[in-house]
Amino acid sequence: MKSIHEQARDIPVAAEVDILVAGAGPAGIGAAIGAAKAGNKRVMLIEKCNSLGGMATSGMMSHWVGVTGSPEVAAIQERCRKLLNTQEAGSGWLFTIHHEVLKYVLAEYMEELGVTVQYHTIVSDVIAEQGALRGVITESKSGREAILAKAVIDASGDGDVAARAGAGFTVGRDGDHACQPATLMFRVGGVDYSRAIFPGSFETQVQVPAGEIQALARQTLPAPAGHTLLYRTWIPGEVCVNMTNVTGIDGTDARSLSRAETVCRKQMPLIVDFLRRYAPGYENCYPVASAEVVGIRETRHFHTNYTLNEDDIVEGRLFADWISTGNAFNFDIHNIEGAGLDKHGAQKHFKAKGRYSVPYGCCVPKALDGLLLAGRCIGGTHKAHSNFRAMPICLGIGQGAGAAAAVAIASGNVLREVDITAVQSELMRQGVPDHN
Ligand SMILES: Cc1cc2nc3c(=O)[nH]c(=O)nc-3n(C[C@H](O)[C@H](O)[C@H](O)COP(=O)(O)OP(=O)(O)OC[C@H]3O[C@@H](n4cnc5c(N)ncnc54)[C@H](O)[C@@H]3O)c2cc1C
Repeated sequence: MKSIHEQARDIPVAAEVDILVAGAGPAGIGAAIGAAKAGNKRVMLIEKCNSLGGMATSGMMSHWVGVTGSPEVAAIQERCRKLLNTQEAGSGWLFTIHHEVLKYVLAEYMEELGVTVQYHTIVSDVIAEQGALRGVITESKSGREAILAKAVIDASGDGDVAARAGAGFTVGRDGDHACQPATLMFRVGGVDYSRAIFPGSFETQVQVPAGEIQALARQTLPAPAGHTLLYRTWIPGEVCVNMTNVTGIDGTDARSLSRAETVCRKQMPLIVDFLRRYAPGYENCYPVASAEVVGIRETRHFHTNYTLNEDDIVEGRLFADWISTGNAFNFDIHNIEGAGLDKHGAQKHFKAKGRYSVPYGCCVPKALDGLLLAGRCIGGTHKAHSNFRAMPICLGIGQGAGAAAAVAIASGNVLREVDITAVQSELMRQGVPDHN
């Protein structure tokens, strides 16, 4: 590729903080909570979009799935329930998201905790000295700036910060490095809820007058679209649609991301037409809104002190260096070549011996200090990732990483040498159980 030489220049230091969290998705929110509740007064959250929540809000996600031992997910859901003035909408395993309410709730919570939030800002590079991060470089309307931090938590989903810092990683599944497909979520309105169908998983089959809905989608929609996933929302007559599908996307490449947005947007009217023709209750549906960003399920898996694997999850392991406990979900691997579930995935038929923990080792990059990973970019196999990528679990991991950073700073330890017993005591004080 042709290149130009960028001149070196001095840039302003916009802030000096203790803990800098890059990305305000479930993991970043968890990290800010864990750090602030551990008593750290200078926590800063940098987010490239205009709201908190990541995929839950900017990605227009339908619902929180899976569970974690952290009480924070339930607390956030309870705040949403209060604002929605309801006791309904499920809890624990399945909680429907009201995107606008969640944005508000998270912003309010961060303010209460004294976390400084900066939106419209992308972390574009790192400041590193002798194998340790000292801060990050940001790009925004304010230009190129530096933020110095004693600890950086990479909760960007893709691990942008760790990648810039030179941390090692693999992409996607072993062998061909293919990643799970991407989806642009959208909502339709005008749905008659009294007759509407809500197939919530690939393994859910629903008979409609013209046949079985998953089979009809495979026959009718242009590949790689071809499955039917529809979810209730809080808004009368509106349904969240998880049916656009694009394969072969690299979520860390701007051109590939642009292709994902284009392909999914072209599928949207065809999906609306499909729903009108075949799905009872959807005869008069119309598009209402689409996500701010295409949903990327999988990109980098970092080389960390421990790599979480599928056996750890199925066996329900409790690690000695746990920083998140009580986690449970299925192996949600979407078909990497087309529509539906991958042959290695298991949703309805998933079986585990119990809940599992996530060890601190999964958050600590090999051979790099001053940085922790949180959320879907921690060290894990492709299959394990399909489970821990669930939003409640990412939030719990973030909380653990945030608390660990705060404890390390308070005791003057480098991150990788933090006293894990002290971190666990702090997490228990925050309500995280010491067992699965
Ligand atoms: C289509 C789709 C459907 C899904 N369905 C569900 C579901 O129903 N329920 C569920 O629980 N999970 C679901 N998931 C999984 C879940 O949404 C994600 O795995 C989870 O949100 C990951 O959390 P995270 O905090 O690690 O990353 P994200 O939620 O992706 O958050 C990362 C945040 O970092 C910001 N960011 C990224 N790069 C930078 C940067 N360089 N500088 C500054 N900010 C940056 C992003 O804007 C974002 O806000 C789904 C995922 C997809 C893609």
